[in-house]
Amino acid sequence: MQDAPLLVSDILRRGASVHSESTVTTIESFDPATGATTSKTVTFGDVGENAARLANALRSLGVNGDERVGTFCWNHQEHLECYLAIPSMGAVLHTLNIRLFPEQLTYVVNHGDDRVIVVDGSLIPLLCRAAATAPGLPNVTHMLVVGAGDKEMLATTFPHVELHDYHDLLAQQITTFDWPADLDERDAAAMCYTSGTTGNPKGVAYSHRSTYLHSMASLGAPILGIDEADRLLVIVPMFHANAWGMPYSAFFCGADFVFPKQFLQAAPLASIIASERPTVTAAVPTIWNDLWNHGEQHGLDLSSMRSVTSGGAAVPRILMQRYKDKYGLQILQGWGMTETSPLGSLAKPHKNARPEEAMDFHDLAGRVLPGVELRIVSNEDTGEVAPTDGTTIGEIEVRGPWITGSYYLDATPEKFRDGWLRTGDMGTLDSRGYLRITDRTKDVIKSGGEWVSSIDLENVIMAHPAIAEAAVIGVPDVKWDERPMACIVVRPGSAVTPAELKDFLGERVAKWWIPERWTFIESVPKTSVGKFDKKVLRAQHADGQLTVVEA
Ligand code: ADP
Repeated sequence: MQDAPLLVSDILRRGASVHSESTVTTIESFDPATGATTSKTVTFGDVGENAARLANALRSLGVNGDERVGTFCWNHQEHLECYLAIPSMGAVLHTLNIRLFPEQLTYVVNHGDDRVIVVDGSLIPLLCRAAATAPGLPNVTHMLVVGAGDKEMLATTFPHVELHDYHDLLAQQITTFDWPADLDERDAAAMCYTSGTTGNPKGVAYSHRSTYLHSMASLGAPILGIDEADRLLVIVPMFHANAWGMPYSAFFCGADFVFPKQFLQAAPLASIIASERPTVTAAVPTIWNDLWNHGEQHGLDLSSMRSVTSGGAAVPRILMQRYKDKYGLQILQGWGMTETSPLGSLAKPHKNARPEEAMDFHDLAGRVLPGVELRIVSNEDTGEVAPTDGTTIGEIEVRGPWITGSYYLDATPEKFRDGWLRTGDMGTLDSRGYLRITDRTKDVIKSGGEWVSSIDLENVIMAHPAIAEAAVIGVPDVKWDERPMACIVVRPGSAVTPAELKDFLGERVAKWWIPERWTFIESVPKTSVGKFDKKVLRAQHADGQLTVVEA
């Protein structure tokens, strides 16, 4: 066999040639009064030419080796061009999370040693906030601005940086580029920092090889199963774990793209789905929850959708059931992390499952992907591996060609064990490869020495019709060391008491799991990528900011 390196430029070349007529649509505006959207559409052929232009432009700015090129952008066509051009020319795409705190943003740009940043005009004020935190961004030499924005502010804030208009700069370049074929497939193609729910962001470098293999795996029928006939709505931010790898998979196979840019709230998303008629999408559960609530008030046309995936946090079973019942749409649950490229598992029922068992399978975090190995370590000290019995709980460890083996310039031996990544997630694995997540190690609640799964409790509470959102955290308890406390968001126009919720839980979970502490809040705090932020809730509770009802 030929020893051909697996390179991102193969994805670019194939998409731009074989699928040159496939399209990339970016939403340009949304009118909340009428729900109307405007958009621009180009072809994969155009994107291929723009990628070549971008590579020529970056070369002219001194990007000759594996320099990091940051992107501080919404999801749009130009971001896709960055995704394809930067790795293909041998540089490293560093997607910057636009929702990081200024200190974290400064930290990741400097830690990644970004030399160039591609920034959306609309995000200039956010990027400028990084300048206020020491040491600023001293190593950045060029910024490319996409679209209209306050370039004055950028120039004043970063006087040492040379500014360019993205489109003007590209217009001066030729439409071909000699993509280097001699790159090492193990070289970094892209990097992404964890969103920092667990402390300081840590850098994960994706190689060409890992990106290529992850794309191939997710294209397969057991996973996304997308092809040229599909139309992919990219909701997951492109700064979050490569938008779950979907831009690469879709460009590889010629599926059309719909990019929603900054229009990520339920109302514009509903309009975009109705007018652009995507067939496939993926998003964190919060988005699905918001979209559901929007649909209840204003209606929702999901008739174009064929396959939708959710992950990044546990997907409440009730939410999946509601979508199934009302729209005939099965949400597929996946599990993964920035460190796993990110797909590690995806839930589809076993072939021998009876129809009435299907939802039990969808309720799991998924079935381990071909190419990925999972194990449960039940004893942290000895490293004892639990049997694949679907019941023994332990920390999930994972390895495989698209699982990170280290963090970028960050020695963290405690995150690895004999070459396996310690995920910080707790769960069970059965002999057929189905994974159940019970908690994150830092969220686990140990009541009288026994584990209570906060995820399971949240799922059951959220099945109550009066509940919009629920997060369960562990709080200190004199008798049991720790007990679950439920933080409840009631649906507008509904009312419910702790006693009613306790009755509801009494029929569904073990008696000793039922919380005796309840707090009613306006919304559950969210992380920068829209997940429940229980760290904030725990801190609020410790500071006495939450009104706790004992029942
Ligand atoms: P962060 O660690 O900063 O939240 P990631 O986006 O990498 O950033 O999050 C990965 C984590 O998200 C996993 O370790 C896990 O805790 C959680 N997660 C992902 N998918 C699921 C799922 N289907 N069910 C429960 N938790 C999930």
